Amino acid sequence: MINSNTAKLVKLSEDLKSGNRLALSKAITYVESTRPDHRKDSRAILDQIGTFNTSSLRIGLTGPPGVGKSTFIESLGLKLIEKGHKVAVLAIDPSSSMSGGSILGDKTRMELLSKNKNAFVRPSPNNCSLGGVTRGTQETIFLCEAAGFDVVLVETVGVGQSETMVSNLTDIFCLLIIPGSGDELQGVKRGIIELADLILINKADGDLVNLAEKTCSDYSNALNFMRSRDDAPNFPKARTISAKEDNGIIEVWQEILTLSDWRKKNSLFYERRREQMLICFDQEVQIFLNNKFSKSKDLFNRRKALEKQVLSNQLNPSTAAEILVNDLFSE
Ligand code: GDP
Repeated sequence: MINSNTAKLVKLSEDLKSGNRLALSKAITYVESTRPDHRKDSRAILDQIGTFNTSSLRIGLTGPPGVGKSTFIESLGLKLIEKGHKVAVLAIDPSSSMSGGSILGDKTRMELLSKNKNAFVRPSPNNCSLGGVTRGTQETIFLCEAAGFDVVLVETVGVGQSETMVSNLTDIFCLLIIPGSGDELQGVKRGIIELADLILINKADGDLVNLAEKTCSDYSNALNFMRSRDDAPNFPKARTISAKEDNGIIEVWQEILTLSDWRKKNSLFYERRREQMLICFDQEVQIFLNNKFSKSKDLFNRRKALEKQVLSNQLNPSTAAEILVNDLFSE
């Protein structure tokens, strides 16, 4: 017999699949929640909708505060809507879990896009732990796709490990930078450049045009010295754009399509998504294991005792972990 909660979740999933935004927002609140009953409900919703969308495009975007991410997304998003796409924007703000404040949320962002009925703009859950963020965001991507959004932009401020996480959740990854300070690469971490498919030098307008071109050629030269990537021949590429003046934005979209089409033809696109599913699976296993440890008082105490032994050099971390996990399975 179907109980009323199951019936409610089935109805919510059906409404969501028919594109109902309220249902989408409600489903996201389940996904964001850390309450065990909500986690269970969110899994029921995800089971209802299915999770592997083959026609969507997931684009990651990172860059320092003020570089123009929201201006870029607004410009690109509106153009894509004109072309008939439905665009979801998920903004991950790693600062809010660290400081309680928010880099992304304090200002009015993407005003036109937020009001457009073919767009869905939403801060993504930030459950403190990195695994929690990935889980919430990936599940939110699935929900948006099920609701008919075929382009999903995932934005993050370039701090900490959030870029790696976003690149693990998306098909194409773009890094936005500001016209820079001479020939060094502005302290942008090499790791991020290696993750990026496109490096976009924004604000190439007014007095900054020449500096932007110079920065772009510095990056292009630096990229020539990096090892070529099997999953993106001729990429990463550096380009200048002006999000404010709408210059170069459609060209960026063309580059994104070129790369994603190439990856599709060479079986790499869905391979990457399969790998991403496995990364999330691994993270879920860790989250479930951690929950088990924290829920059982015995295991919790045992863990604390082992931590002490590790800290006093009585046990090495690996041995201590083995003992703890063995304890879990003998429970
Ligand atoms: P975010 O913090 O990365 O989301 O950056 P915003 O999109 O909020 O932009 C920060 C500031 O840079 C705003 O004052 C924008 O108007 C400005 N800005 C964004 N894009 C451009 C651009 O292409 N050219 C110029 N000159 N200013 C821009």
